[in-house]
Amino acid sequence: MALKTDVLVIGSGIAGLFTALKVSEYADVILITKKNQSDSNTNYAQGGIASVIDTKDSFEKHIQDTMVAGAGLCNEKTVSILVHEGPDRIYDLIELGTNFTRKDGKLDLAKEGGHSMPRIVHARDFTGQEIERALIESVNAKSNITVIENTLAIDLLTEHNANDLKEATLNNRNCWGAYVLICNQNKVEKITSKATVLATGGLGQVYLHTTNPAIATGDGFAMAYRSGALLGNMEFIQFHPTSLYTSEKERDFHAPAFLISEAVRGFGGILRTQDGKEFMEKYDPRKELAPRDIVARAIDSELKRRGDEFVYLDITHKKKDEILEHFPNIYNTCLKYEIDISKDFIPVVPAAHYACGGIAVDENARTSLKGLYACGEVTMTGVHGANRLASNSLLEAVVFGYHAAADIKEFINNYKSKIPGIPEWDDSGTLSADEKVLITHSTKEVKQIMWDYVGIVRSNLRLERAAIRIHNIFMETENLYKKTKIFEDILELRNLVACAHMIIKSAQLRKESRGLHYTLDYPTADYISEPKDTLIRNTHT
Ligand SMILES: Cc1cc2nc3c(=O)[nH]c(=O)nc-3n(C[C@H](O)[C@H](O)[C@H](O)COP(=O)(O)OP(=O)(O)OC[C@H]3O[C@@H](n4cnc5c(N)ncnc54)[C@H](O)[C@@H]3O)c2cc1C
Repeated sequence: MALKTDVLVIGSGIAGLFTALKVSEYADVILITKKNQSDSNTNYAQGGIASVIDTKDSFEKHIQDTMVAGAGLCNEKTVSILVHEGPDRIYDLIELGTNFTRKDGKLDLAKEGGHSMPRIVHARDFTGQEIERALIESVNAKSNITVIENTLAIDLLTEHNANDLKEATLNNRNCWGAYVLICNQNKVEKITSKATVLATGGLGQVYLHTTNPAIATGDGFAMAYRSGALLGNMEFIQFHPTSLYTSEKERDFHAPAFLISEAVRGFGGILRTQDGKEFMEKYDPRKELAPRDIVARAIDSELKRRGDEFVYLDITHKKKDEILEHFPNIYNTCLKYEIDISKDFIPVVPAAHYACGGIAVDENARTSLKGLYACGEVTMTGVHGANRLASNSLLEAVVFGYHAAADIKEFINNYKSKIPGIPEWDDSGTLSADEKVLITHSTKEVKQIMWDYVGIVRSNLRLERAAIRIHNIFMETENLYKKTKIFEDILELRNLVACAHMIIKSAQLRKESRGLHYTLDYPTADYISEPKDTLIRNTHT
């Protein structure tokens, strides 16, 4: 049973849901999501969504803060769009039913690192969950949006899939939908569409330690790469310095790491190596209060030097009632792991948190493939440059999701061509996987390699080592993929391997240290006179 629609949206986080709602004002939508509707990074966002709301704040200040964080690589045009259109999109979210926290009737605005003014609109400390709730309720109330859960997009439909068009050049490619796996039936279907929106979120699962949930296996980046779309700045991965370290025995290896908020360091938390020694003074005079990337690098350096898997964060010198008052959630979560943070040191490790690069899009969310749009974390709009300013990512998803919907309207109204015949999925000759252990092992291997060699501190040697190892896993995985009846784990492994390849390749191209990319071989940003985006494209498709 092949499905057909005007617009196919892939992903049900803030970007996919918001775009689908806007598109539904003029066209029919099928929205697919690989687990249930609320399984997304969006659901985990705590802090909030940045925007100029206070009359004492200004667009210029938000623009300036964003550009400073981006370390010379932000696109001024898209930053300006992000900031100027932010307030309208916040009011759209409110109209769609999001209950943001208010004080005396006005939106309560928090201040976060890197922002010169209080401008973080939030719903206490579960902003993402509240936005997701409101958007899901609105989507479910629309009769022309069909939501299909437990359905995983495998690959995009392009000339590559149409038998008589296989030789079409990369520069003139179209996208007509996707092959999708209906997970609970293990069946592959084809969904054709005039326009397709990739809103598949991030790729934190490429790394051993990540704050991202299990869905963040970089599927959208990988599908876009395999279809020949242009991607950029994949080397800029933001690491959060302190997440709770749990051993493999204590957790499923896909489970997200629990965030130990930066406020704990602000409260007087001291970082110590496993022998109890303080170390931050070696790295920065501000010690534990140095910026996020400096603290993450210092921890990484101690882990590498000592061969340890975690360091400690110590707040045992603080009074128990104060700890409980400030950090009830952290206290209770740690207690589940038998860590009483008023008496015990907290084992912490940095964790992959956010992908600043992604599928290259213009200000209307158009990718380099005709009919393929992308929004949210999977994109490179240019607003984050080499480092993301806190709370700009939820904003980016709604601002450019709005632009996508407006552009798609024009695109489908002028749609004259006919979608060519694309064959049904053919898995004749493939066998059921009877050795799933091969996939589990390769997945663990990818995560470990990326953590050890392509993490917070890189070098030419480490990147070269990672490239060789990932290439071997790529060959093994492709081999297995070709002879196996597909299922979720093999598709996700294939996507993780593709993302690993792109991150390594982009990191090798960037011969300088800038923003989130730090390499021992070029330790400063002055090796390149004019900083540029690193662009990559798969030309073998
Ligand atoms: C712990 C944490 C805290 C954060 N805090 C903040 C914050 O305070 N402020 C802020 O601005 N940002 C924050 N972020 C970042 C922000 O949450 C994300 O960047 C944002 O939610 C991404 O939204 P998205 O819609 O692009 O992707 P997601 O919300 O991740 O949604 C992606 C969707 O795509 C689906 N999907 C993926 N692959 C496929 C496939 N192959 N087929 C079908 N469906 C697929 C997923 O199931 C999911 O529904 C935080 C992130 C984390 C992890």
